[in-house]
Amino acid sequence: MLSATLPSLSAAFLYPGDPGWDEARSAFNVLLDQHPAAIALPATARDVAAAVSYARAAGWRVAPQATAHNQGPLGDLSDTLLLNVRGLQEVHVDPGALRVRVGAGVKWERVVGRLNAYGLAALHGSSPDVGVAGYSLGGGIGWLSRKYGMQANAVTALEVVTADGTLVRADHEHHADLFWALRGGGGNFGVVTAIEFAVHPVEDLYAGALFFPYERSAEVLHAWTRMLPQLPEDLMTWVTLGHFPPIPDVPAFARGRSFAIVQGAFLGHEVDAWDLLRPLRELGPIRDTFAMVPPIVLADLAMDPLDPLPFHLTHHLVDALPVDALLENVGPDLSLMQFRHMGGALHRAEPGAGVRATLPGEICAMALGVVMDEHSDRAVRAMLSAFDTTLEPHRAGDYANFVEAPSDASRFFSPDDWARLRAIKHRYDPTDVVAGNHHIPPAS
Ligand SMILES: Cc1cc2nc3c(=O)[nH]c(=O)nc-3n(C[C@H](O)[C@H](O)[C@H](O)COP(=O)(O)OP(=O)(O)OC[C@H]3O[C@@H](n4cnc5c(N)ncnc54)[C@H](O)[C@@H]3O)c2cc1C
Repeated sequence: MLSATLPSLSAAFLYPGDPGWDEARSAFNVLLDQHPAAIALPATARDVAAAVSYARAAGWRVAPQATAHNQGPLGDLSDTLLLNVRGLQEVHVDPGALRVRVGAGVKWERVVGRLNAYGLAALHGSSPDVGVAGYSLGGGIGWLSRKYGMQANAVTALEVVTADGTLVRADHEHHADLFWALRGGGGNFGVVTAIEFAVHPVEDLYAGALFFPYERSAEVLHAWTRMLPQLPEDLMTWVTLGHFPPIPDVPAFARGRSFAIVQGAFLGHEVDAWDLLRPLRELGPIRDTFAMVPPIVLADLAMDPLDPLPFHLTHHLVDALPVDALLENVGPDLSLMQFRHMGGALHRAEPGAGVRATLPGEICAMALGVVMDEHSDRAVRAMLSAFDTTLEPHRAGDYANFVEAPSDASRFFSPDDWARLRAIKHRYDPTDVVAGNHHIPPAS
């Protein structure tokens, strides 16, 4: 009936029960089922505009989605059109200008290889499977963030279909307020169809991982936290305490084993990195993969899972890590705990930055538990709760991209920025049609 009122609709539409429905509504976290009113799979920006108008005519909200890596915060989708932009797959690299333009459905895996051919790197994160869109709109912290900041602030222009179905280009000269809000305010202001961003030449890159037996987690974390204040911005290090499942996707040496791993990326030469990493090497890692490498190595350095998983996750930005209390309270059974060194450019607001200009805290601490059944669900929740309680006294803030449940988004912003975001939302979407992952309501 509705399509009769909108004959120009060209995006593929799916309704519950249609062939392909379950695949189209699937998500990275398989614990979280998505049940929208319908799903649109546009192939062009024009399709996106038509789908937004169609949803408005139906009285639905519109939830933009690229890869469904962060669907948890969306909540109830029963009166919502899930607008999945995965059909927008343009990738254009201009190596001379150090610029990239991608369609909003592109995952990092389609960008990193092309950049590598020119000795360039983008500010992607730990997983090549994550989408450029959601990652960039929420912030985006990866291996080069201490040196160059967040991906949101590398964005130079966004093309967006706003709630009234108009396609606009937002950059420093056009729709500058919208451009500011999109770079950290998430998917609340329209459906992004294309993203342009700056990338960096990488002359020397020394990256890899030091593997220690899991039982040495305390020693490794103590040595690592002692080093942090002396480390330059050219070096980003993470510690991952993890249990690798015995599956073929995991490299043979790690399959079914548990490690404390120090991963790192240094924008410089091996000789300088050796001195910086010495305190960790003196602990005697059982495997050392650090080497001079091309930038593409950063895409998989973290060894993130690529296939969907059933999991619960929590995170905190903290000023200090209570290592012994954390290991004692949480115990050794959580699938993964990860600690990323923050600071450097992540603490500096550059002129012209978006609303997510900086992130607080010295360390981004994250914990994830894979859930197989009711028993493990209870156990994982208890361990994550112990993680939260132990870190609470050291909390400096939250990072929206790592929040996987519906929450009050005002906690991610200062009161002034929150008021400005709501005013911009009111200007572009006064009736709150566009449902971002972390909801920003229009100013009343
Ligand atoms: C395995 C894994 C590893 C990760 N590693 C990192 C990391 O290293 N660093 C980091 O910072 N984050 C990381 N993240 C978090 C990640 O940045 C967020 O989950 C991000 O939101 C994913 O974006 P997406 O487009 O892939 O996911 P989606 O779930 O498709 O999108 C998330 C939200 O972004 C918005 N959005 C997406 N597309 C559009 C669009 N076209 N127009 C408007 N809004 C849109 C919507 O609000 C949507 O709900 C990781 C997540 C996972 C699961």
